[in-house]
Amino acid sequence: MAVPISQMWTVASYVVKQKLVGRKRYPLVLMLEPLFRCNLACAGCGKIQYPAHILKQELSPEECFKAVEECGAPVVAIPGGEPLMHSRIHEIVAGLIERKKYVYMCTNALLLKEKIDLFNPSKYFSFSVHVDGQREHHDFSVCREGGYEAAVEGVKEALKRGFRVTTNTTLFDGADPNSVRQFFDEMMELGVESMMLSPGYSYDKAPDQKHFLGRARTRRLFRSILANRKRNWRFNASPLFLEFLMGKREYSCTPWGMPTYNIFGWQKPCYLLQDGYAESFDELMQSVEWHQYGTESGNAKCANCMVHSGYEASAVNDTFSSLRGLLATAKATFFTAYKDEDALKLLNEPVRPVHAYNPLVQIENATSQLEETRA
Ligand code: SF4
Repeated sequence: MAVPISQMWTVASYVVKQKLVGRKRYPLVLMLEPLFRCNLACAGCGKIQYPAHILKQELSPEECFKAVEECGAPVVAIPGGEPLMHSRIHEIVAGLIERKKYVYMCTNALLLKEKIDLFNPSKYFSFSVHVDGQREHHDFSVCREGGYEAAVEGVKEALKRGFRVTTNTTLFDGADPNSVRQFFDEMMELGVESMMLSPGYSYDKAPDQKHFLGRARTRRLFRSILANRKRNWRFNASPLFLEFLMGKREYSCTPWGMPTYNIFGWQKPCYLLQDGYAESFDELMQSVEWHQYGTESGNAKCANCMVHSGYEASAVNDTFSSLRGLLATAKATFFTAYKDEDALKLLNEPVRPVHAYNPLVQIENATSQLEETRA
């Protein structure tokens, strides 16, 4: 199973309850960013670009619990920054488990072996290890030689100790679909529970602005990767979201589906954009002009966006909105082959992976900024 039955049941009953009470906008996953500090400086991420006085700051466990209770979502994802660099991350995770939240803690795994004793295996808790592809591709993506090796070692250690382990992968322009498919095989062989996928979003703070995907290219890439699928690949995503990435469905964005809370407050309107902050979850829901966001809104910042944090909740909502949605989800769950001759031809097209003609640049300011924040 890609997700334990108890988690599926919790999420399904939560969504049905929201529907029964007629709640039009409801959160599904809280994106809890307890810090922005990181021990990597990936080219496609802008978080490490904050000044040192911001990188020094952390949300306290109490602030995290208050946000979780205000929001009420059944699932909490902890991205960052690198959560394992948070001085009290184990207290945060323990408190969320106590509240029966399903927690996915994202990590690049560089510190996983060192910190793993701080955590206990639980059906509510999963390490979500950031791996962007096979060795060469991942190291290029995170601007660190040896990054893939560290991630794999972390996965092995966590699995050995009985933790739930998933992966999260962001794909950018220049991704080689054959390599991505081999990467899926590698992760399944390692024994990870399931894999989460998303196209990258063009953060204006990200150092590399050249390799973000437009919508047509995203659909083409994901169709080549996800059609003619192997039976043993397990994905930590709604099957309808994967069909959306493949270009088989159209969805409007659901930015409130994965609201973000961090040291600045509740981020408007979504995980990716920063159009101000609200002090409470209610204020976030009431103060954002939601019609100004999403691809169909004409907002230039949303034009190419197909990311998980905007559209996964749309797919889940579709599942529970009608019998048609339920049947489509059942079909996509049990018939995963997606035979597609044209997609097979796409796999034969020559690809020049981005790391083939760009040198790996290790961005040193991750280390120097960390030193600065410790000072
Ligand atoms: S389309 Fe993307 S950037 Fe725009 S609101 Fe939705 S998730 Fe945010």
